[in-house]
Formats: sequence, structure tokens, C-alpha cells
Amino acid sequence: MPWCDSCSAYHAPTALDGGSCPTCGGVVTDNTPHDHEDDRTVGQSAPWHFWIVVVALAAYLLWRAIVGVMWALERF
Ligand SMILES: [Zn+2]
Repeated sequence: MPWCDSCSAYHAPTALDGGSCPTCGGVVTDNTPHDHEDDRTVGQSAPWHFWIVVVALAAYLLWRAIVGVMWALERF
């Protein structure tokens, strides 16, 4: 949907005056949904099982770090 920043309003594609705003003549940007597929992907929250994997991985790496430090301390 064509959007005019100056008017803060949407305009019908057919009402555009040669690609510019029919009201103020300013620049109109096309805000059609297909231009915002990336925004939808970013804004979408991760599924719950994704966070279980993240937490499990973090706990595993933390455990490995502790074990590594303990192993190093025993060597000295
Ligand atoms: Zn305008």
C-alpha cells in the first residue's frame, strides 16, 4: 500500500499522481506486504523448543567450562 510520510496516510495505488502523493505531491513509498517479509521473520518470536535447545546448550558449555577449569587446576 503506497504510504506518504508527509500526510501520514495511505493512498490507493490508482490515486497516485505519477508515483507521487495526490494530496501534497510528496514522495510515496510502497508499503506492500511483500516488501516486509524480513520484518515478519525478525519480529516473530522463536518457538519454545528453540529456547530449550539454547538453554541446554548453554548449560552444557558451562559444564564443559567448569570441567575444563577443574582439569587445568588439577594439573598445577
Ligand atoms: Zn502526501
